[in-house]
Amino acid sequence: MTTSMAFIQHVCSAPFVRAVRARSLAANIAIPSHKHRILSTTTTISTPSSSSPRAHDNDSRVLLGLSETELQQLAVDLGQAFRNELQEAGWRVGRSPIYQSVTAPDGTIKLLIKLEDNRLIETVGIPVKDDKGSMRLTACVSSQVGCPLRCSFCATGKGGFSRNLQAHEIVEQVLAIEETFKHRVTNVVFMGMGEPMLNMKAVLEAHRCLNKDIQIGQRMITISTVGVPNTIKRLASHKLQSTLAISLHAPNQKLREAIVPSAKAYPLEAIMEDCKNYFLETSRRVSFEYALLAGVNDAVEHATELAELLHQWGRIYHVNLIPFNPIEGSEYKRPSKKAALAFAAALESRKITVSIRQTRGLEANAACGQLRNKFQKTPLVLDSDNAPSQSDVAIAC
Ligand code: SF4
Repeated sequence: MTTSMAFIQHVCSAPFVRAVRARSLAANIAIPSHKHRILSTTTTISTPSSSSPRAHDNDSRVLLGLSETELQQLAVDLGQAFRNELQEAGWRVGRSPIYQSVTAPDGTIKLLIKLEDNRLIETVGIPVKDDKGSMRLTACVSSQVGCPLRCSFCATGKGGFSRNLQAHEIVEQVLAIEETFKHRVTNVVFMGMGEPMLNMKAVLEAHRCLNKDIQIGQRMITISTVGVPNTIKRLASHKLQSTLAISLHAPNQKLREAIVPSAKAYPLEAIMEDCKNYFLETSRRVSFEYALLAGVNDAVEHATELAELLHQWGRIYHVNLIPFNPIEGSEYKRPSKKAALAFAAALESRKITVSIRQTRGLEANAACGQLRNKFQKTPLVLDSDNAPSQSDVAIAC
């Protein structure tokens, strides 16, 4: 093992330090003193889930979370043989490149990241300035390439499913957002492509890395699920201090099954019971995501029914209303602002805390999954010769 390899072994066993990362993101990596630590995620992951028929077989002993530019600089600093040595020793080196990025007028940026097997995933950076002028930067990350659950309103579901992401492929989305914005990510939401509970092992490993190595507080991380039987209990057993967000979308089983076909396997009562247990195990409030679909689930009667459902299970819940972001070919429409406000008021009058999510980049008509779908049709392998021009790309949602 050469000196440079020994050095890398040393730094990769050290915790990942935010201050150093900020420095390296400025693409000026000062190596040298052993007190310095390199931008790295020390994942020793043997990822593939048996549930994924086409999962990667590569074990990621380590990912150096550096962009290509940063790696080249590192190779200069440590000598040309550096990168080869790492690879010969079985280390994965470098991050997946950003294939496309699209910026919405409100500053939201959607990235298409090209994975090692040429598959594309979306990740979104959402900047929000608070009253004091400081910026909160949320990374909305994908957990799978596509999604097998096919919720009726979702562009990702319509685009098909390819495989689970490995943990480092989740973490590097956050690093890509930081590099793009030149700003630290403050919040992470697992609300991008895929159902996180179908890839729990990698999601938990990525969560650990984001929290321990990248130092994003557990409370700043939200894991969202449409509901997969027996997984909420498993998640609760890890006693994370992160928010669980349930994509509910309906106040009763019948309507939910119409909107979310996978709900047939997981009755509403069972989900609510598991949510209650999640709260009891973790003391963390559960949040319910509710996509408002005009004329389908957005009536005041639906709000009343939802309030009754939540009261039946306690008062530990928050409802996040999401006026539907229209997607190409969808039968659903966006509700009027008046309908959304009336729905929220009906919940509030019944003492349910509620917020209406601001839709970002709506004018460009791009819900989650649409950008990827534009570029990558089934079988989800990039054919760069047929990639559409920039003007054919949907804008970030
Ligand atoms: S909403 Fe989520 S779970 Fe449903 S198809 Fe889309 S990505 Fe999958």
